[in-house]
Amino acid sequence: ASRLVRMQKQFRRLAETDALTGTANRRAFMQFLELATDRSRRHQIPASVIMLDLDHFKQVNDTHGHAVGDRVLIDTVAAIQKCLRDCDMLGRLGGEEFAVVVHDADLDAAAETAERIRARVEAMLVKTDDGVPVPVTASLGVTAVRCAEGLDTPESLLQDSDEALYAAKANGRNRVVLSEVVAGSNRNIVG
Ligand code: GH3
Ligand code: MG
Ligand code: MG
Repeated sequence: ASRLVRMQKQFRRLAETDALTGTANRRAFMQFLELATDRSRRHQIPASVIMLDLDHFKQVNDTHGHAVGDRVLIDTVAAIQKCLRDCDMLGRLGGEEFAVVVHDADLDAAAETAERIRARVEAMLVKTDDGVPVPVTASLGVTAVRCAEGLDTPESLLQDSDEALYAAKANGRNRVVLSEVVAGSNRNIVG
């Protein structure tokens, strides 16, 4: 039975892990985000979500090949992890898109973390087997869990950070945009 339990544990771990990068996969990340949101609300501790998407990543694959693209993804995960604490959580949402739950961080604190991640990704020194440097940048969107209101769901948090990320892409990439700023400008358009 203990062998079965071990196998079951291993199976579960595999089902939650992204095979290429070893981070949490989308499903596991969403579960963690749900727990983190509940916890944040219950204890009135701030928490934030950062979403990151590599810039022009298709071009990296097209120019240098898929294997180099894979290496960029692995190095990106290492770069992001260096900016996080143990209680934070990184997940690969799919493709070249990642998200982070930053524990005990309001929007401003999470924005600083996001900026450190942005700078670290830009500073990565990925090279092809022939030693050709592969420049990599990322765009990031940040949103904070609104503890008091209890309105946020994992999905709405991802949607808000995705909107901010989209604005970062639209404003030139290799930058951090806060969802409050996006919401603010939307309000301006409406009102
Ligand atoms: P943008 O700056 O607008 O994000 O442009 P982009 O080229 O990064 O975005 P797009 O969505 O057009 O391309 C994403 C690329 O990511 C296309 C796909 O081939 C590549 N990709 C997705 N998953 C993997 C993977 O596991 N390994 C590699 N090497 N490439 C991947
Ligand atoms: Mg991209
Ligand atoms: Mg993408």
